[in-house]
Parts: sequence; structure tokens; C-alpha cells
Amino acid sequence: MTKDSLKTYQEKRWFGGTPEPAGGGRGPSGQPIFVIQKHAASHLHYDFRLEAGGVLKSWAVPKGPSTDPKDKRLAVPTEDHPLEYADFEGVIPAGEYGGGTVMVWDRGSYRNLTEKQGVPAPLEAALAHGHAKVWLEGRKLRGGYALTRFKQAPDESWLLVKMDDSEADPARNPVKNEPNSALTGRSLEEIAAEG
Ligand code: MN
Repeated sequence: MTKDSLKTYQEKRWFGGTPEPAGGGRGPSGQPIFVIQKHAASHLHYDFRLEAGGVLKSWAVPKGPSTDPKDKRLAVPTEDHPLEYADFEGVIPAGEYGGGTVMVWDRGSYRNLTEKQGVPAPLEAALAHGHAKVWLEGRKLRGGYALTRFKQAPDESWLLVKMDDSEADPARNPVKNEPNSALTGRSLEEIAAEG
């Protein structure tokens, strides 16, 4: 499952033209990781990625994540990415797939909170069933987040919502107020200039 699920990722890209990792060479992390990449492609969006089954399960979140439990953020699934992608910050050249600047906006580990009838449910199964809860331990985002599928393929769509817990903060608005890289502190403009 692990390497086959990167086939779409690899088919979409020409690794002679993009600095993105081809992937497939990293084993599972001790504690599973998440990453949120701010991606200034044709439309600015945030890519939310969770380690599961040896890859990064991925969603494009147009407005980015919120710390306010009242906000429901649209999350559209995209192809699985390799674990190495969690380190990728740089510039995808114009004309290549996803051309534009990529920032590691937040990164950390997570715990799976999903339960089914009171019993912990593995994350891969939870995602297959269209509902998962995770506790994020990032630089910016902390606490519970729920991912819920509300529309099936071909227009598969999910919602990413902050759970109402001790880390919820309606006033914080990190997408607006904490715009820079969690990895290097750089702005999108600095990454675009430096690569
Ligand atoms: Mn993207």
C-alpha cells in the first residue's frame, strides 16, 4: 500500500524540473507527524497532511485552518504525498505541477483521538469511513481537530473543524496573524527570493 499510493504523486511530477522529493525512502515516524504547507500556487491555499500508512494523507484547505470551533473549513482531498514532503519548503518552478512557493507553515506530531463505539479506531480506517479526530502538537496549532467527509467522489469534500477544547481560541486567527514559516521563520516573499 505504502509505495503504490505514491504512484499518483510521482506521475504528476517531473523530478528533473521540481525540487520536491520523489519520496518512498522514509519509514514511519516514531510518533506520527502532521504538516501544513502554505502554497502560493495559482490560488493561495494550505495543504493539510497527516501521516498514515507510511504516507502523508493530504487535503487542500483554501482558507487554512482555524482555532475557532465555529469555523468549518473546506478541505478537498489531494494525492498522498511522501513522508519526506514534510521537510519541503521552496519554490516549484512555473510550468511544473503546482508551480509556486511552498512554506512549512506548521509542523509537529499528532495523536489519533478517533473512537468507534468507545474503542480507539486506527486512523487509516477512520479516514476510510470519512471521520477522524486528531490532537495536534504543532508550533502554531494545538489541540483537537475533526475531519469529516460530507461529499463523496467525484467531488469528494471534507470539513476541517477545531474541536472545542482547552486549545480553542476564537480570537487568535493564526492564518492572518502568524503568516511565516514554522521551520525557518521566513515569509512567502523571502522563500520566493531565496528558494
Ligand atoms: Mn498545494
